[in-house]
Amino acid sequence: MEKELRRGVCANRKECISMTPQTAYNRLNRLIWHGRLPEAKVIFVDDSFIPNCWGVTLHDEGNLFPKPVIIINLLRKNWGETLVHEALHVAEPTLRHGTVFNALVAIYWRRAKKDMHGWGKS
Ligand SMILES: [Zn+2]
Repeated sequence: MEKELRRGVCANRKECISMTPQTAYNRLNRLIWHGRLPEAKVIFVDDSFIPNCWGVTLHDEGNLFPKPVIIINLLRKNWGETLVHEALHVAEPTLRHGTVFNALVAIYWRRAKKDMHGWGKS
């Protein structure tokens, strides 16, 4: 799995960064939300687990999941954008997919790429 993780965070062949999705979530939380997001568990899975989507957030106000669990599909090289999308679900649980949601993801992703070196090359 460690090997898989490293493959997943390689921005390109020359620049292979060692940022796990967990670290990326924590950094996003600080950068975009100033640490206001709750602690979350972020994991990579291969495409066989969620073949029809890039990522999913499991969060039910503590019923089954006391903390949000974010699952990222490793197949997507540009997984950082998926993580921003899922983190926005954590930040704004009632905000539905749509124009506003997508606009926020785009703004936050642009910001994250700028400040978190090594992201966003797909
Ligand atoms: Zn979503």
